[in-house]
Amino acid sequence: MSELLLVRYGEIALKGKNRRYFEKKYISNIKKAVKHIENTEVIDRSGRSYVRYEKNDEEKVIKAVTNVFGVVSVSVAETMPNDLALFCESGLKKIHDLMAEQGYQSFKVEVNRVNKKFPMTSPEISKEIGGYILTRSENLKVDVHHPDVFLNFEIREQTYMFVSRIPGPGGMPYGTSGKGMLLLSGGIDSPVAGYQMARRGVELEAIHFHSYPFTSERAFDKVLDLGRVLSEYTQTLRVYSVNLLDIQTAIGDRCPDEEMTILSRRMMMQIAERIALKDNCKCLITGENLAQVASQTMEGLTVTNASVELPVLRPLIAYDKNEIISFAKKLGTYETSILPYEDCCTVFLPKKVVTKPKLDKIENSELLIDKESLIERAIENMSVTIIVEGKVVSEYNR
Ligand code: ATP
Ligand code: MG
Repeated sequence: MSELLLVRYGEIALKGKNRRYFEKKYISNIKKAVKHIENTEVIDRSGRSYVRYEKNDEEKVIKAVTNVFGVVSVSVAETMPNDLALFCESGLKKIHDLMAEQGYQSFKVEVNRVNKKFPMTSPEISKEIGGYILTRSENLKVDVHHPDVFLNFEIREQTYMFVSRIPGPGGMPYGTSGKGMLLLSGGIDSPVAGYQMARRGVELEAIHFHSYPFTSERAFDKVLDLGRVLSEYTQTLRVYSVNLLDIQTAIGDRCPDEEMTILSRRMMMQIAERIALKDNCKCLITGENLAQVASQTMEGLTVTNASVELPVLRPLIAYDKNEIISFAKKLGTYETSILPYEDCCTVFLPKKVVTKPKLDKIENSELLIDKESLIERAIENMSVTIIVEGKVVSEYNR
């Protein structure tokens, strides 16, 4: 017998005329998430969806579905015809199982009568089921405020009985907000920033800058590991990898030392923008955060912005570092992010950094390098890695 998972969404319900567009994308994303698990079926009822699966796959199915953006929660449900006697019997069995397995001692019945044709009100139904269970159970009480378990009945075209809600990530269906290019360093912040924009429906591509051979292959593998985690949510992730060494060397040779970081950042942005435009991305995404480091002052961010025309989205702008860290831990990127491999920015870190760069001065410094041909060469030599559901499936030019 197959099992059933109830899948709930949240914010999509607030949509008006275009709600169906979001729902369709949402359903197709759930289908993609479970397609590798045999004998699953996704059932789409406007406002609610269900996944049928084999009992053995329960953990896998729950993990896959609770990684889909838009899903607010899921519940493993038992279904039955709309018949009060069946509610009572099934409820009693469920509660007795839970008392034996989990030692539960209190419960509360909750009824949601969506189908108004059912001839009793929700409080009447709850009272009947609760009374039936209580009179047949020892050492069990009803607790309406803090029960060990809520026994839920949702009466629709049939009735769904469930006891727990497992949270999903919420947000909007992936791919409903256009595409964005994430500047993915090996650090703590940028994977979190990417996740947050993906959760708002932005389809991600990623670009990483390195200074090989000053930065190692292992440093890049670390970035791919971060990409792998993101791909559990995005399914596919394309990661561009661009060598910034010649550009940094040129900046180091020709420009004031303290401008190294801001000039490199502007070059990263410009390269990212060119690739973004080619791939139809509508924004750049960074893990920048106001006042976190010397280059992330208001002036620094302004001068960085001025190097590109695409909007630069910075979802972490107002977070405290410890908030970002706890987010990264939950996301599962933190342990990888803190591995101590060198980063292209740290390799060329100057002794002193301008904290209040002036745009005209920085633009003048940028004229000192042969920007156009450096950018072209960097793009010509870049490599591309494609990750699908946690696995690298192809690499070009590495
Ligand atoms: P992170 O923890 O993500 O590395 P950070 O606090 O170290 O961020 P910076 O190194 O100043 O901050 O970088 C700010 C942002 O610039 C990063 O979040 C990322 O979006 C982008 N960035 C920095 N270095 C790189 C890189 N080597 N490749 C791609 N993007 C980068
Ligand atoms: Mg960094």
